[in-house]
Amino acid sequence: ERRQLHRLRREPSRTVDGVDIRLYANAETREDVAEAHALGAAGVGLYRTEFLFLQRDELPSEEEQFVAYRDLVLGMTGRIATIRTLDIGADKADGSGLALPYEPNPALGVRGVRLALRRREVFTSQLRAILRASGYGPIRILLPMVARREELLAARRLVRTVATRLRREGHAVADGIPLGAMIEVPAAAIALPAIIDLVDFVSIGTNDLVQYLLAADRGNDALADLHSPLHPAVLQLLHQVITTARTHGRPAAVCGEMAGDALFTPLLLALGLEEFSLHPGNLLEVRRAIRAQELAALRTAAPALLRARDQAGIERWLAAVAAA
Ligand code: PEP
Ligand code: MG
Repeated sequence: ERRQLHRLRREPSRTVDGVDIRLYANAETREDVAEAHALGAAGVGLYRTEFLFLQRDELPSEEEQFVAYRDLVLGMTGRIATIRTLDIGADKADGSGLALPYEPNPALGVRGVRLALRRREVFTSQLRAILRASGYGPIRILLPMVARREELLAARRLVRTVATRLRREGHAVADGIPLGAMIEVPAAAIALPAIIDLVDFVSIGTNDLVQYLLAADRGNDALADLHSPLHPAVLQLLHQVITTARTHGRPAAVCGEMAGDALFTPLLLALGLEEFSLHPGNLLEVRRAIRAQELAALRTAAPALLRARDQAGIERWLAAVAAA
């Protein structure tokens, strides 16, 4: 079993009917990055930068961040590295140099791009580090917790300003670095057509999207059954986001835990997903699941999936696909 999986390291993530699906890795540590590379990941689809800010009393310097981002880029040897800007809020700021005030509802508070835009000095220093790393290989910038157009306009303006200043200082900064948005706030998912012109790609954060859509805390064990992507609203919204992105020629990935669970692979393929970003430890299992599927048949079965009315109905669809 393990050996069989191991053999898939050099195989393409291609469906039975010959469609190539891109598998990116969610990776932060040097080990993750090395594994992603060894398993033939298309790149890093989600590099969470929070670890640089947590469990310490001072903010990381631009230089420290630059070294981390540059090493990521170099580790991927020419494959794309998607660096997500800081996604910290009062829920995980413990011990960080950010000195965030207490919030009663941190999941609904000043986190992600909201924090970045309110703490310009922190955001600017991170963007400087990221843009400097772009001189060493292909990168993309991903903004977390985007809810509205104004945030994207402000972030784009700041990226432009920082790039201009860096070039003036003599740093090499790549041209046309793609800027993307995490789609994890329901408002951004529903009104995606209103913001899609401002992003080059989207990455669907199902961990938070499910949390906010179902009003179910992702960390509350008592609600683990409710915090599930197997809800008709989640599937319909995923389908809508994927379809909107495709219509506008923007690549769309799912980077939440859901993408790394091979049980859900046929479902995501049926909804039109062509890019996954997942922990490297799950990559080969998902690749195997992709290689077992005929995409045309899944697309034909998609309407039935979208008609399911409850979790049991969605599970019956999955079971029928597995048996086919
Ligand atoms: C998500 O919300 O699905 C996601 C990938 O981001 P994080 O888990 O870091 O919030
Ligand atoms: Mg998230």
